[in-house]
Formats: sequence, structure tokens, C-alpha cells
Amino acid sequence: MNILERYAAMDYDAAPEARNEADAWVAGRDFSTSLFIGGAWRAAASGATFATHEPATGKLLASVSDASTADIDAAVSAAAKALPKWRARSGYERAKVLYAIGRAMQRHQRLFAVLESIDNGKPIRESRDIDVPLAIRHFIHHAGWAQALTREFPDRKPVGVVGQIIPWNFPLLMLAWKIAPALAAGCTLVLKPAEYTPLTAILFAEVCQRAGVPKGVVNIVPGGPAAGEAIVNHPGVQKIAFTGSSEVGKIIRKATAGTGKKLSLELGGKSAFLVFEDADLDSAVEGLVDGIWFNQGQVCCAGSRLLAQESVAEAFFAKVKTRMSRLRVGNPLDKNTDIGPLVNRVQLERVRGMVAEGASQGAECWQPDCALPASGHFYPPTLATSVAPANILAQEEVFGPVLAAMSFRSTEEAIELANNTRYGLAASVWSENVNLALHVAPQLKAGVVWINGTNMLDAACGFGGFRESGFGREGGREGMLEYLVEDLPLGATIKPTSRPKIAGDGDTESPAIDRTAKLFIGGKQVRPDGNYSLAVADAKARLAGEVGLGNRKDIRDAVAAARKGTAWSEATGYNRSQVLYYLAENLAARADEFTRRLARLTGSNAKAAAEEVELSIERLFYFAGMADKYEGRVHAPPSRTVTLALNEPVGVLGIVCGDDAPLLGLISLCAPALAMGNRVVLVPSERHPLLATDLYQVIETSDLPAGAINIVTGKSAELAAVLARHDDVDGLWCVADADSCKQAEAESAGNLKRVWTSGGRKVDWRSDLVAGDTFLRRAVEIKNVWVPYGD
Ligand code: NAD
Repeated sequence: MNILERYAAMDYDAAPEARNEADAWVAGRDFSTSLFIGGAWRAAASGATFATHEPATGKLLASVSDASTADIDAAVSAAAKALPKWRARSGYERAKVLYAIGRAMQRHQRLFAVLESIDNGKPIRESRDIDVPLAIRHFIHHAGWAQALTREFPDRKPVGVVGQIIPWNFPLLMLAWKIAPALAAGCTLVLKPAEYTPLTAILFAEVCQRAGVPKGVVNIVPGGPAAGEAIVNHPGVQKIAFTGSSEVGKIIRKATAGTGKKLSLELGGKSAFLVFEDADLDSAVEGLVDGIWFNQGQVCCAGSRLLAQESVAEAFFAKVKTRMSRLRVGNPLDKNTDIGPLVNRVQLERVRGMVAEGASQGAECWQPDCALPASGHFYPPTLATSVAPANILAQEEVFGPVLAAMSFRSTEEAIELANNTRYGLAASVWSENVNLALHVAPQLKAGVVWINGTNMLDAACGFGGFRESGFGREGGREGMLEYLVEDLPLGATIKPTSRPKIAGDGDTESPAIDRTAKLFIGGKQVRPDGNYSLAVADAKARLAGEVGLGNRKDIRDAVAAARKGTAWSEATGYNRSQVLYYLAENLAARADEFTRRLARLTGSNAKAAAEEVELSIERLFYFAGMADKYEGRVHAPPSRTVTLALNEPVGVLGIVCGDDAPLLGLISLCAPALAMGNRVVLVPSERHPLLATDLYQVIETSDLPAGAINIVTGKSAELAAVLARHDDVDGLWCVADADSCKQAEAESAGNLKRVWTSGGRKVDWRSDLVAGDTFLRRAVEIKNVWVPYGD
């Protein structure tokens, strides 16, 4: 046998990581008291425990305290008690605690990694080289944010007590993503680890004790869905941060509606992995291995849909198969292992079931000939080809080592296929042509886009989804904002609009030619579908005019027009800025007319009405100027990569205005939305809609393209509910009474649109606080595009 033959014949020997220290830690611990509340360990009030097993063997690891509502009450009380002092500490003091946590974790780095692999089943190479170092980096990175807090976020304060619920796929990393920014922001917290993987969270609580975290600041409560529900519904919690399935995310969206709780949701995905014909195919294969087989595919941002350009698809699939045959499935503590077991039997059965269903729907499922260990929840890497776009494997998140492959011909088709999903978490684009990659990235509906790479994550860069992948970001500046609240100038409670009794006829002294206000949809004035009108009273309860009574169909038409109006979103910031300046110019030309109308409708005196009109013009002018200034950022994560944090429009935004300051309120909401390139469906003040219908002519003379703004007059509460339910509406802002706001939030759960409401309160639109980034920030989605560099 010559040396080459010997080389080819060589096989791997086992290279197991030692587990004695982790076993000793598990054996030496009393898990019947594993709730960490107020700085002390205690048993669940009910005495209940749940079992956590080792996925590689199915053996019992520990029986851990199972928190119930009474325990969650105790944990929230402990967090509330600790809040004032923790919040009042200087940023530097908090920074030192975060740093101490990071350093203490570093001292136990190997124990964390081995324990994570034992409890979750992920290969030790991943827990050792990725999960644990990244978790540590989160604490050290956020120490800096803690210290810089007041300088970087001068107008914001900590949201308060935070409830955090995490899944089992990255137990320690998700914990770090949640806890580090919360502590940096000055919040105290109650975190519930997933019921399958509680061990590293318990070890983390021990680290907190040693790192000098004050009692009650961090509370860790292992438990199942019931404990999660108790956190979500607890009145003492001011924010919920959840990572998990879209299904539970929607339940939480509904449960928190109307409570005023801040909410961030990091949910599932079905991310596209696009391989163009000019890609470096061998690198793309390696990227794909990481993209879909990392953590057995139990990754929210897994590149589970491979889209390869037709000219290279067959060759690429062949390379993928060759590489798959070399993936090593086995003991997660073996350093040679690429693929460990799935987390539990339920997950294993789920993956088997979905693959069988995909095959029955026509997919050809291929698996390499690899021996699986006799025990444990192992599943081989699987490639499904001939997958139709509607196949379950192309549409649903499998959360297992299963790749669905399709091909495309043109760039347009690639983008269309990539976006053909209700999710929007991540995407990978492989091409040696950076122009092409950067042409495609902005068109993908995904919160993270990796160019010639995959699964790149960092504490300095925001991570989070579009669409049903959730809302909110974790990491970096935008992640900090999730734990801070701004001062909004909210005022008195809004009462539900009651139809005014119209006491007298119209203005009979100086009758004008009757001008019937219609709706404004797709750049045209159109009659309402129902052909009904709504009488509008002036301040003296006289008839001031009539407007169209919009209904569900009108909202549908307006949304369809807004969907089509993509030209506005694609225009440059400078173009949009000029159109908005022109709008301001045209409004200014008719300032007197608007002032008279405002005074008559609202009963405010001439001076106050003139001031509102003047301020409306000024605000429009301001946001016109911001259209080309509210820009993204560039991050420099610790890899040879630049990360472009791009501000993209949310899409189609529904805006429901209140009755207060009807012109200024409308402009203060619409102008930032339009400036950032959103297309708007506007429901103006129900009481004073004539100010909006008077704007039609201003809009028509201002070069705003068709569909950029659509106005439907009518009953606000009804129209708001239609907008909230509409799946083609991406975001909704609503100033209304408490019930309408609650309904808007609850009904938005269908497609998880981004919702802001005034919570049933009036907004002081005259305040400068609404002119800053308050609404600009809500008018954009941040997309992080990772661009590696170097040879
Ligand atoms: P899951 O939604 O079932 O559970 C997640 C957590 O929520 C667990 O701690 C669970 O106990 C708790 N929970 C369950 N029901 C609850 C309820 N009604 N109220 C409150 N809490 C409840 O999800 P899973 O199966 O454990 O995790 C896998 C999912 O997580 C996948 O869909 C994956 O895509 C997603 N995920 C997303 C990200 C991200 O950042 N977007 C990261 C990791 C995982």
C-alpha cells in the first residue's frame, strides 16, 4: 500500500471530549431546588419536577424543579424589588457586573460547552467554538452598552421588569442574547429556559451568584409552557422577549394585546440559500453544510431551501451529495462529529413525518448510506430534490437536517422563489459578482442576508426577522432599544368616537358649490364601495360636509393599490425628499384655507388653527429633509466582514388617526412613514375627515406616485380592525380608544404585523418629542447584510 492508498483508507478514530467535570457537576447538584429566585435556590412551590434527558442516549440527566404560577409570582416580585436599585446604579457599575459575568463564564467555558452538548445533543465542536464563545462575547460587548447608556440613549429609560422565554436549540446563546441587553439597559428579569434544556441556565445562575449580580436582578425559573404563560400574563412584567415557534409567538401577541407590555418575538424561518451560476461552488457546498446541518438543522435561520441556478444545479446537487456522504453522524461529544442527535423523540418523529409527507407530495428524498448509533434520537442528513414550491418541505420549517432543493433560471425568479414564504428571517446569497449579490440582497424579504457565507452572528449586529419570523432585533444598538422606552407625550384617555348629532344645516349664509369628498385610492378619487356617506359636523354641530363611508372592500382596494405602488419604495431618498418638500410647498400655498377649515371643524380659535397648520407644514418639511438622512450603519464584527445595517421601509403601513389636532396628527404620522418609503393606507380622524379629503388636491399636485398614499374615510374602529386583520398590511399605527388599540394588536397576530398604538391615550402632536426618530424608527425594518472580504 503506497502512502496515497494509506491516506485514502484511513478512517477516523473516536476523539471524545472528557465529560467527567460535567457529570460531576450534575451528580453533585440537588436539582429539586433549581429555581433561582431573589438570589437563592428553591424548590417549586408545588414540589413538581420535570425530567431532562440526554438526547444521544435517551438517559435521564436530572429531574429539575418545574415552576408554576406561584413561583413566577415570586420571581417577578423579586425582580420588581431589585429594580429600583439596579436601575439607579451608574452605567459603569452595571458594566462591571456584565463584564464579571463574561469573565466568570470564560473560566468555566469548557464545562458550559460539554454540559450544553450533553443536554442538547449538539456537537461539541459547535458548543465549544460557537455557542459558548458567542454567549461570552454578548456579555462583554454589552458591558460597553451599559456604560454608554445615558450618552447613547439620552431620552430613554429601562422598560422595567422583563419576562424572557427561550427555546431549546441554543440554550445558553439565547439566554445570553436575552439577559445581556436587559442588564445593560438597567432592567431586572425573569428568564424561563426551555423544558428540554435547562442545565446550562442553572449553571449560568450559579455564575451570576459568583459574579456579584445583586439578588433578584436575574431570576431563572425552569419550567414548561405553563410557566411561560404565567410570565406572559403577569401584570408585574413590562416587557416580554420571546424566542420560539411562530405558533406560540402568535399566542403571545394576542395575550399581550392591550396590556401596554413591550414585545419582541424571534420566531421560525424557512431561509433561502441562493446559489448563482457564477458562485464558487465548492465554497457554497461548505456554506451549505453549515447552513443546514449546523445543530442538526435545528436552527431558526437554517438555510433549509436551496435555490440553485439551473445551469449549475445538477452539478451542485452532485457535489452536495458527495459532501453529505462524508458527514459524520454520532456522539456529540466526539470532536469528529458533524451531526449529533435531535433534541428528543418528539422532534425526531416530527422530522420523520415531514420527510414522509414531503415524499408523498412528490419530493425525491436522498440520504447518504451512513450508520446511525443504535440509541439516541439520530436522523441522517437528507436532501430533497424535485421539490415543488408548495411542497411541505419548501413551505414549513422542519427544524431538522433536511434540505429542500429547487432550481431557478433568472435572477428575478430566484428572488421570487426566495420570497415565496410567510417567514423572513435570513437568506444566503452565493455569487462571485458582488454587484449581483448586492442587487439581490435588498430585494429579499429577510432580516439578515449573508453574502457568500451563512449563520454569521455577532453581538454588535442586530438579528431578527421580517413577516412571521417576528419583530424586534437582538444584538447591537437596535437590540438595546428593545429594553428601553422613550418618553412619548401621551395625554388624556381617548373616548370611543360617538356620532355627533347634527343640529343645524350647513353654512347657509355663504353656500359653496357642493364638493363631495370621495376616497383616495391608487392616485384617484373614487366612490366608496357601499355608496354610503358619513355626515360630518363642525364644532357647532352644523353639517360641515359629507365624506364617503369606507368599508372592508375599500380597505382591500386601498391595500392592493398600496401593494402595487412599489415605485415609491424604490425611489431614492432624495427623490422622496423632493416630493415631500413639494407637498409641503403646496400645503403652504393653501394654508389660509386649511386654517379656516380647521377652526370651523374643531372650534379652535383662528390663532390656534393657524399655528396647527404652520406646525404641520414645518413637520412635513422636516420629514422631507429626513428622507435622505435617516440612514443605516456599518458594523465591524470580529471577523473579516462588514455588516451593512440597512433601513428598509416596513412596506404597506396602515395609519389610523385620532380626532385630536387632526391635521398635525395626520402629518406627524404620515410624513415619517412616507419619508422612509412606506406606502400608506390612511384612515383619517373620524370626526374631522374633511381635513384629509381637502388634502387630495394637494397630493394630486405634488407628484406623489399612485398608491403611495391611499385615504379611506369612515368609522375608524371598524376600518382599523380590517387593517389589523389584512395579511398584506405589514405594519399598523393606531391612535384610538383603548379597545380599538387592543383589538388592533390582537388582530394583527395573523401575519404578525408591526403595530404601534397610543394605548388609548391622546398624543400631544405639538411636542417636539414626536418629531425625532420616534416614528422614523418605527417606519423602517433593519436588514443586516453581511459582506465578507479578503482573498
Ligand atoms: P416553542 O415555541 O414550543 O417553545 C419555546 C419556549 O416557549 C419554550 O421555553 C416553551 O416552554 C415556551 N412556551 C411554549 N408554549 C408557551 C406559551 N403558550 N406561552 C409562553 N411560553 C410558552 O418552540 P420550540 O419548539 O422550543 O423552539 C423551536 C422554535 O424556536 C423554532 O420554530 C425556531 O425557529 C424558533 N427559534 C427562533 C429563533 C430566532 O431567533 N428567531 C432562535 C431559535 C429558535
